[in-house]
Amino acid sequence: METTKVSGPQIRSLLESTAGEAAVFLEQLADRPVAATSDGNALQTALGGPLKAEGMDSARVIDMLAKASKSGTVASAGPRYFGFVIGGSLPAALAADWLVSTWDQNAAVYAMSPMVSAIEVITASWLREIVQLPSSMSVGFVTGCQMASFTGLAAARHRLLANVGWEVEDKGLFGAPSIEVLISEEAHFTIVMALRLLGLGGKRVRRVATDGRGRMRVDKLAEALGDVSGPCIVCAQAGNVNTGAFDPLAEIAEQSKKRGAWLHVDGAFGLWAAASPSLLPLVRGIEHADSIATDAHKWLNVPYDSGIVFCADELAHRGAMSLSAAYMVATAHERDPHEFVPEESRRARAVPIYAALRALGRSGLTELIDRCCRHARRFAAGLRSGGYEVLNDVVLNQVLVSFGDDDQTRRTIAAIQDEGTCWCGGTVWQGRTAMRISVSNWATTADDVDRSLRAMLNVAKQITA
Ligand SMILES: *Cc1c(COP(=O)(O)O)cnc(C)c1O
Repeated sequence: METTKVSGPQIRSLLESTAGEAAVFLEQLADRPVAATSDGNALQTALGGPLKAEGMDSARVIDMLAKASKSGTVASAGPRYFGFVIGGSLPAALAADWLVSTWDQNAAVYAMSPMVSAIEVITASWLREIVQLPSSMSVGFVTGCQMASFTGLAAARHRLLANVGWEVEDKGLFGAPSIEVLISEEAHFTIVMALRLLGLGGKRVRRVATDGRGRMRVDKLAEALGDVSGPCIVCAQAGNVNTGAFDPLAEIAEQSKKRGAWLHVDGAFGLWAAASPSLLPLVRGIEHADSIATDAHKWLNVPYDSGIVFCADELAHRGAMSLSAAYMVATAHERDPHEFVPEESRRARAVPIYAALRALGRSGLTELIDRCCRHARRFAAGLRSGGYEVLNDVVLNQVLVSFGDDDQTRRTIAAIQDEGTCWCGGTVWQGRTAMRISVSNWATTADDVDRSLRAMLNVAKQITA
């Protein structure tokens, strides 16, 4: 089909039938096997072959994709997917994401989309209020938490080196004064990746010891800071990916400030605890961080790709991310979104975040976070009463369970995945193999938890018998 000759009614028909396919996908999400039932080879056969000279009718293209999605996708957007830390998409966020694709705005500069610029301003202020961050913190909408950490740490690199007279964006790192980087033994690997990308090295960092729950030990941090003389970055964590535990942020902030170090916090999913009054104490102290990274595509339940960076030093943030020196001129100009992120041309990814927050409201967000944590405790209680050992203190939405020795646990995880009621992954926690349950989806109900528990316990009983 010659796309230039597609008429208005044809576009409407294509979009309406696509919406129908999407609705069917969502309707089946809760009852289909959670794992994919096709493998890569079968999918390459179904979808591949040489690209023909002749184009295919758009409706047929969509039809092919929709058919393959039935067996080739994982129901990770569904209510019984508990692998990694994933989350689904709130209906309002998903629908807003369709509009984002439809509008096809380039969210780089104000002139290209005043609406997207305005939505970034509004959403940034809502986010600061939810987390109780200073209103002066700058915000960037990036693709995920790794890029949020990259951006925050780039601001750190800018400020720390500017303080000793080195313009890193102009001169690079060859011959630059050294920056000491302290991260915990339990730092997420994406912190290491961000440091690598910034030329700060993944292995030259100093690792600070953690306690039995995976929290950075403040006494060990103080000891490490005592040995540092030059510019220094401390990376802390709000929400350990295994245990959900929080580093003692207030004390870490105090130690970092005392030493003049830049404090970056990885709060990929844990930051959202701030939305719940009962969990807020866990996050206390984060308001003193110099930069904070989080995800919207995990616990806020917006579609991929969506991460957020907050920075207490707006000039360092823009200095690291903006090519122009225009940020030096204090004019009351409108927000140019690209000044806060690594990309130039970019998707309007603040829009689904805006839609999610509007649709939830403050109390809906609190309820979402509290509900997931309640479900996690329900999992822990059910597994314990089934006779299995829960390895972590369930303070948030993450549960670690052992089904016996490492081999039994590994075999049980594989059998639970095969059984198909739910999906959980494996991990190693303090030398022991464990199954990790992450409750991050808005759609998960207590019934989903009970169905999953029944399946887990049945499978585990067969394996250990
Ligand atoms: C998921 C996660 C990240 C990385 O986030 P991406 O969105 O995948 O870049 C970083 N830190 C923690 C603790 C995470 O759980």
